[in-house]
Amino acid sequence: MTQSGLRRTKTVATLGPATDDDVVFKEMVESGLNVVRLNFSHGSHEEQTERFNRVRRLAKECGQTVGILVDLQGPKIRIAKFKDGRIHLDVGDSFVLDCQQDESTGNQTSIGVTYKELYKEVQSGSELMLDDGAIQLKVLDVNGQKIHCETLVGGELSNNKGLNLRGGGLSAGALTAKDKEDIIVAGREKADFLAISFVRTAADVEEARKLFFAAGGNGGIVSKIERAEAIENLDEIIDASDGVMIARGDLGVEIGDEELPMLQKHIINAARNNDCFTITATQMMQSMITSALPTRAEVMDVANAIIDGTDAVMLSAETAVGNHPHVVIQTIDRVCRGAERKRLMPKKYRDDRNFRDSEEAVAMASMYIANKSDVVAIVSLTESGHTPRLMSRISSGIPIFALSRHPDTAQRVTLLRGVYPLTWDLDLANRDTLDDQIIRALKGKMKLNKGDQVLVSFGDMRGVKGQTNTLKIISAD
Ligand code: PGA
Ligand code: MN
Repeated sequence: MTQSGLRRTKTVATLGPATDDDVVFKEMVESGLNVVRLNFSHGSHEEQTERFNRVRRLAKECGQTVGILVDLQGPKIRIAKFKDGRIHLDVGDSFVLDCQQDESTGNQTSIGVTYKELYKEVQSGSELMLDDGAIQLKVLDVNGQKIHCETLVGGELSNNKGLNLRGGGLSAGALTAKDKEDIIVAGREKADFLAISFVRTAADVEEARKLFFAAGGNGGIVSKIERAEAIENLDEIIDASDGVMIARGDLGVEIGDEELPMLQKHIINAARNNDCFTITATQMMQSMITSALPTRAEVMDVANAIIDGTDAVMLSAETAVGNHPHVVIQTIDRVCRGAERKRLMPKKYRDDRNFRDSEEAVAMASMYIANKSDVVAIVSLTESGHTPRLMSRISSGIPIFALSRHPDTAQRVTLLRGVYPLTWDLDLANRDTLDDQIIRALKGKMKLNKGDQVLVSFGDMRGVKGQTNTLKIISAD
């Protein structure tokens, strides 16, 4: 735990049937939830709008800032529904994926799929990975629109599970017609983050941002790195995005799970060096869907993601359909705090290149000072949250408080490692007491002793408007 007692890593939890209850949700917030993920692969627009409203209302009741991330389905290929909800496939069983079969009529021998063209893109010998590879089918023959398969890896298969082609390359654009409709809802409801699934290029990200902003949105764009093409275009995608998600489920299926550990480190590092935040996702606490304790392997995985430098760790089914969502949050909170005891080595403050502008210069200088002096906290007076984001790319044990008069900005720092929103109650007309006002605001968040030094960054002259260009150190009284 850091000196301030605040957890630096942020937690993201997917909402679902298990969390659609006010008491459960409040327990999650009180257990340390920072951001909710609304998975637009499931549920109607009415249900999602209802979740937006509930999250905002309940977070307010708990007195916490909780960010909302909308996760678009993207061109994820899924199987349809079974008459009985699920089946069991044994190794060697025949099974048919039928591109014409109606929704909700799946049975022990066949099921429909969401991508009606699938039969054109597979052939005898193709390997299909269902449910992130938990079930594997080998294509024996394609007959009309029916794909005849043999089960290579068996197990339980339930409704709407995802489907990938081993090796990747199923040709579908990143934004589907459904995604475009969903972006309108995300924009209208002012989602704090919009996650784009199966991004291939920077152009995919730019198109999504344009549609999102046109619909009234102003949140950050998160690119999910989950297909082979995204790895090839990683640098341009990072440049075009506010954040990236290491979407290990689909990514592992497409490129091979043995590639994941090195790629996770590479993506996190590349993102941090280019001002992007990162979310590490999928199966982080998988056994806790039912179990009250994580496995040792899960503890190690979460901790290692933190040591890799991730900003946030994400929970999927663990909370959405889990037995005890708040216990999972409490557990991941505990594991994060443990891992944070290992201080990351500060990066080289980008001394291999020149800073782009005064904001970056001040942000880097702040971190240099913070890491080499007795400063106990940083307060960044910020309009958009850009300066605290830059600061948080450099590791330190020192909390960074984003003080903004824009509630949207407070919502958007919820994913940044070591950054915390501070409620705006400054009286700018009273300039002489500004330092005292900042110290007072900070005292509501952490313990400050007399003489403790706090580093403050702001834009001078024009109040807090304009670019951050000033840095000063003040002392607590
Ligand atoms: P998903 O994305 O849960 O929406 O598939 C995450 C992943 O692929 O890991
Ligand atoms: Mn995915």
